[in-house]
Amino acid sequence: MHRVGVIGGGQLARMMIQPAVEMGIELRVLAEAPHSSAALVATAIGDYRDSATVLAFAAGVDVITFDHEHVPQDVLAALVAAGATVRPEPAALAVAQDKLVMRERLSALGVPIPAWAAVGDAAALAAFIVAHDGAAVVKTPRGGYDGKGVRVVRDAAEAADWFAAATGPLLAEELVPFRRELAQLVARRPSGEIATWPLVETVQTEGICTEVVAPAPGAADLARSAANLATSIATGLGVTGVLAVELFETDDGRLLVNELAMRPHNSGHWTIDGAVTSQFEQHLRAVLDLPLGDPSAREPWSVMVNVVGGPVGATMPERYPQALAAQPRVKFHSYAKDSRPGRKVGHVTASGDDLDKVRGDARAAAAFFEN
Ligand code: ADP
Repeated sequence: MHRVGVIGGGQLARMMIQPAVEMGIELRVLAEAPHSSAALVATAIGDYRDSATVLAFAAGVDVITFDHEHVPQDVLAALVAAGATVRPEPAALAVAQDKLVMRERLSALGVPIPAWAAVGDAAALAAFIVAHDGAAVVKTPRGGYDGKGVRVVRDAAEAADWFAAATGPLLAEELVPFRRELAQLVARRPSGEIATWPLVETVQTEGICTEVVAPAPGAADLARSAANLATSIATGLGVTGVLAVELFETDDGRLLVNELAMRPHNSGHWTIDGAVTSQFEQHLRAVLDLPLGDPSAREPWSVMVNVVGGPVGATMPERYPQALAAQPRVKFHSYAKDSRPGRKVGHVTASGDDLDKVRGDARAAAAFFEN
């Protein structure tokens, strides 16, 4: 009845464990390798690209959901054919799997997005650059994350290696002049109920999200538009579970959608400590088609800072004696991952009524793990 199977054993699966324990939901994980982030729960090890492996895993649960968006459509189709309940559904997930499909569907829904084109070769990219003020953001349609697969170019030759390796067209976008980046998180259950969390500001460093401020400062008007936009996307695409909508606030004050993620998302990690209902609990409720929880913030401000990279050979818990003593109001989250430069290995969240203090505390706490 309430057995959830998660494909992928990363930190998102790991963070679903706590609300599952609290609510008495049985959670199982199909991880790629032993010692995954989610190895705390009943974990099968196997290849998510192999239908037989995934079908065997699905036989023991009531609903299948995801830690990542990479499960191939033929495997998803095999699951559906075998009678498995898959949430989000494969057709919705297809939109998050391919940035060109995403641009097409968002355009068709009338959602504001950057000017874009599918470019099949260097000549097409060169024409796009000329038509868009001498620059383009080129993206590989599949498999990118944390800014890998995104490149700003002013000359088509700068994407020559990607064209050589590509099996289809690349995505070219205008280089959007933006004030800041925002994210709107929403959850939708199959019966249609929707809950939207406060709009947040996200800060990217070299393509990696490093900091999230909830709510986005000075964005009361934008918040209403962002919530409406995310709601119409979730409904229009038939998303079930959590949907993250990454946004640009342009220099002239418009909202443009950059990216969609159909799963809990880094921009919502603050909700574990800072909201009445976390994105991980809400995702479980939503994929089980249970009534959704209150997404309101518990405190006026929350700031989440990612712990990226970290000292070689030292895990977050090894630094706890100093960090926890210095920041007793900060909440610490370790993903039990080996530290590598540029890899997200944990995060910290501070909440309170003074944004400058909350942000200072969160940054100071994260700094204990970064060198
Ligand atoms: P990923 O899927 O790797 O996260 P994104 O498409 O979200 O890639 O892009 C990563 C970052 O690159 C964004 O957060 C933003 O800072 C920048 N970026 C992406 N597209 C554009 C664009 N069209 N104009 C300006 N900056 C962009």
